[in-house]
Amino acid sequence: MIKMSRRNVLNHIDNLIERGCLHIGFWTFPCISITEVGDRLLQRLSDSIQESELIEKAERKESERVRLIELKKMPYPEYLKTTEWKIKARAAKEKVNNRCQLCNSHSPKNLNVHHNNYLNIGNELDSDLIVLCEDCHAKHHDKLPRKR
Ligand SMILES: [Zn+2]
Ligand SMILES: [Zn+2]
Repeated sequence: MIKMSRRNVLNHIDNLIERGCLHIGFWTFPCISITEVGDRLLQRLSDSIQESELIEKAERKESERVRLIELKKMPYPEYLKTTEWKIKARAAKEKVNNRCQLCNSHSPKNLNVHHNNYLNIGNELDSDLIVLCEDCHAKHHDKLPRKR
């Protein structure tokens, strides 16, 4: 019988788990029960699941960051064609019940989502956007020197 301290046995188990070769059927360490081995195995599994979830989350965050830079760099007309903008514009209209925020007309098909400013392209705040009917949008733009 091999004499090993619990600590050594646990390290050994971890080692075997890592190498994917834990043969529980041949269990020969009397200082640790098979239940403990099972618990250890589960613990290690949940650790590695947690770790891969963290990695995935970090990767998602990173790809969102890269995409945001892309959105900010693209020409405005191109940005207006992106899925991101379409989702955002739809949400902005729904938020005001598909009504023009100037004249309150209800004309879902004729609503435009206008940018009050272009500082937060890609991650606009509610205050960066205003929902306008086509008439009000046109009037709004007449007042502004900048045509967009
Ligand atoms: Zn209007
Ligand atoms: Zn506009």
